[in-house]
Amino acid sequence: MGSEIPQVHIFFFPIMAQGHVIPTVDMAKLFATRGVKTTIITTPANASFFSKTIQRSKESGLDVDVKILKYSTEEAGLPEGCENADLLPTSRDEPKDIVSKFFKAKVMLQEPLERLLQECKPDCLVAHMFFPWATDAADKFGIPRLVFYGVSVFSTCAMECMTLYEPHKHVESEFEQFVVPNLPGDIKLSKKQLPDYVKESVETDFTKMLKASKESELRSYGVIFNSFYELEDMYADYYKNVLGRKAWHIGPVSLCNRAIEDKAERGKKSAVDEHECSKWLDSRKPNSVVYVCFGSMANFNSAQLKEIAMGLETSGQQFIWVVRKEKSNGEEEDWLPEGFEKRMEGKGLIIRGWAPQILILDHEAVGGFVTHCGWNSTLEGISAGVPMITWPVSAEQFYNEKFVTEILKIGVAVGVQQWVSTVGDFVKKEAIEKAVKKIMNGKTAKELRNKAKALAEMAKGAVAKGGSSYSELNALIEELKLRRH
Ligand code: UDP
Repeated sequence: MGSEIPQVHIFFFPIMAQGHVIPTVDMAKLFATRGVKTTIITTPANASFFSKTIQRSKESGLDVDVKILKYSTEEAGLPEGCENADLLPTSRDEPKDIVSKFFKAKVMLQEPLERLLQECKPDCLVAHMFFPWATDAADKFGIPRLVFYGVSVFSTCAMECMTLYEPHKHVESEFEQFVVPNLPGDIKLSKKQLPDYVKESVETDFTKMLKASKESELRSYGVIFNSFYELEDMYADYYKNVLGRKAWHIGPVSLCNRAIEDKAERGKKSAVDEHECSKWLDSRKPNSVVYVCFGSMANFNSAQLKEIAMGLETSGQQFIWVVRKEKSNGEEEDWLPEGFEKRMEGKGLIIRGWAPQILILDHEAVGGFVTHCGWNSTLEGISAGVPMITWPVSAEQFYNEKFVTEILKIGVAVGVQQWVSTVGDFVKKEAIEKAVKKIMNGKTAKELRNKAKALAEMAKGAVAKGGSSYSELNALIEELKLRRH
């Protein structure tokens, strides 16, 4: 660092959900590799998820820090320790307003964040879109606010077109398909694949928050996307030229993780030893294992899990299957078919809890990925060059499915018909078996794999020195430096 130019300092403020905290930590590390001082602002429990990563980054010479905001779950009316969306109770007996309380509780963070902004005067605040007050908070101290959505440019444009033209209001039935108007690519959806809050057009706390978020985005300095220009060039141009927004594409941010520990310890502590997991994969042939994981939020019921088990078994394919259920002593696991694990010994590995996802995806033995199409998982699959079976559950995942299967053409849809928050639509074993066979073996599998591998190369090129994401990140940092004069 030159002595006359003080180091650029950026605050990162993620919403408390694994799918946002994980790429934010990667992003902070990425900026720090370019000599930027980065500070992640979060709550105590969330900070503990990535304290080791930060420690390792500091030891390697990166200027990455964490500041913790006091957060009272008790005051918010939430169960103790419920600081991250993946810790929210999902049982049907829980009060329905718990998610709404979780969103409201974020407001409690405004005052302490403003105090930090005043004290540290960073050059920029990168805050998640679900903090609609962040633009004004930063503005009070003359600090530009950048929005981080954590979703693709494609889905951002699609959602924008849905809000502008409301095509779902002109169909006769829930399953009738409509084209998303004015969006390049002729994307067709049905009303069933939309979230309730879009379909029902009833104003709720959540829709009010979305509206406020959009307004605050329009007044912000711009948007950062975890994506790379070549992957979504048509939509990156559309976002800029048609929707008139300012954006930087700086991803895939997960590619900043090179060491085994960094790949293995993202988000929570892995439920398997990473070396054991690698050893299991090492003894398999290239492209012979299908990896099945549905992110941090989806929570399938026992009937669906049993169906997945049966579909995997009849596909005859080797697999790693991540199930968000811990094994409790003595309790019967009603989601496993009788004798399944015994029959699958040596053929399939079930990870109960958190998996070292990018370590697994990057292994040459993995030849396919059954994914819920969360944007991080989707981009991680692209970066690893694996074809995907798309199984959207909720959020903006149905858009990502379209992007993977129809725009990129590196996956096949398992056939989910409707958007159902966290629990998902029911998918039958026959559909699972068919899709697994299709992406793992035969002509289609080969074609999908070749395309996927080419995209993975492109992703690596984008973050390498001189690549598009590398250059856009540099341009952003330079712009922030110039703002000081
Ligand atoms: N992830 C992981 N291990 C797991 C489940 C998820 O490392 O067992 C990571 C995954 O690599 C991704 C993130 O958690 O970075 C999930 O984000 P995504 O956007 O895919 O889905 P969400 O959890 O937000 O639905």
